[in-house]
Amino acid sequence: MKYISTRGGADAVDFVTAARAGLAPDGGLYVPASYPSIAPVGPRETYIETAARIMSAFAGGTISESVTASLVAEAYAPFGHDAVAPLRQVSGGRWLLELFHGPSLAFKDVAMRMIARIFDHVLTERGERMIILCATSGDTGGAAASAFAGAKSIELVILHPKGRVSEVQRRFMTATGASNVHNLALEGDFDGTQKILKQLLADDDLRQRTGLAAVNSINWLRIAAQSVYFARVQAALGADRPIQFVTPTGNFGDAFSGYVAARSGLVKDFACLAAVNENDALVDLFGGRPAGARQSKATLSPAMDIQAPSNFERLLFDAAGRSGEMVRERMSGELSERPEIARRIREYGFTVERVSDADTRREIQQTYRECGIVVCPHTAVGLAAARRLPNPDRPVVVLATAHPAKFPEVTKHALEFDPPVPAAVEGLAAREEVMEVGPMSLEFVRDKIEAVSASA
Ligand SMILES: *Cc1c(COP(=O)(O)O)cnc(C)c1O
Repeated sequence: MKYISTRGGADAVDFVTAARAGLAPDGGLYVPASYPSIAPVGPRETYIETAARIMSAFAGGTISESVTASLVAEAYAPFGHDAVAPLRQVSGGRWLLELFHGPSLAFKDVAMRMIARIFDHVLTERGERMIILCATSGDTGGAAASAFAGAKSIELVILHPKGRVSEVQRRFMTATGASNVHNLALEGDFDGTQKILKQLLADDDLRQRTGLAAVNSINWLRIAAQSVYFARVQAALGADRPIQFVTPTGNFGDAFSGYVAARSGLVKDFACLAAVNENDALVDLFGGRPAGARQSKATLSPAMDIQAPSNFERLLFDAAGRSGEMVRERMSGELSERPEIARRIREYGFTVERVSDADTRREIQQTYRECGIVVCPHTAVGLAAARRLPNPDRPVVVLATAHPAKFPEVTKHALEFDPPVPAAVEGLAAREEVMEVGPMSLEFVRDKIEAVSASA
């Protein structure tokens, strides 16, 4: 099992190398040289067994299935639901796939916890250490903090813009009590933290000396880990039944994970509606048109405020007949319209719907009125898009990507009451927070990384 770059200019690498590198040296994203054929989910298989089987297929022998099984079991032990990702029926043919039962109440826990266990295992076995840097506008930081807390061979440094994340989001990052989790609150905005992260990762000397790396949304491990729940849904609703998936979409990670499951034989006759908010670059990208550089705007579903959906490049690679050259051209700003790309994306089963903030708020109200279920704004974007499906003859499965308690202001405004607070949040306020406040400066963060590296 080898991984190749979507831009065709890097050597093929194994699973662990692809996972540690994140981005390929030619600036592309790693994808399997060919998709494996994985047996569908068996009748009595547990989530953990399915996950171990799928991950070891993608690992292609670099980590054994029995080791993978114990890493996955550890990763999902703190989930608040035995099924890890349970299905909940909302009406006749509509279901929510609840992905928010992890410690930080958002679907990013599912992949992040798996990455943490696999990285820590591989590094510890090789006697190596790593510093993982994470810049967050809120959700990813909490998922990373809880996933990497207590890892033996990894130090985690999280950058967040001071005062620009919600109290719940901040506490998820700062109150882990783990000595290997370091929080820097920087005076400035999220773009500033992301710029510092990119500058530090471009510093080859620092990267090699300290083992600096990032876990962002383009990491192949995240995609592989997320393909598992698509396979589980197929088995739960009937092995041969065509399903309509709806993914609230930002960086196109979940939607692409469903495609990977289908390509690997785990999903039948794939159909996926990518639901986006007012940041709708994907509408053009699916149409084979260039999206150009666009400013993202703030909406009620902040985790989806993305105008350059990074994982789309992986789909483009396949839609362009696996031509690294064509991907390079399009990513460097080639402006022509390519109807054949649009046609292939449709043939893969993808469609896209844009949902406004007004429709998102109405959907939160309507879902509550009809079914008594409180949903987060991201999930509401998915549900609103699902209502526009022309002929819902297939069961519709909408991914519920976060718990509503993570976005209490939006829910309160729409429903005029506070969403129920899960136990994970209740305990947070009493725990001690550890963070360092500093300027939005490269030097400040670099000094901190050097200090963490020296003391590890
Ligand atoms: C990250 C995130 C999304 C977007 O998921 P992608 O895989 O990036 O498309 C949607 N909802 C929530 C709550 C998220 O945290």
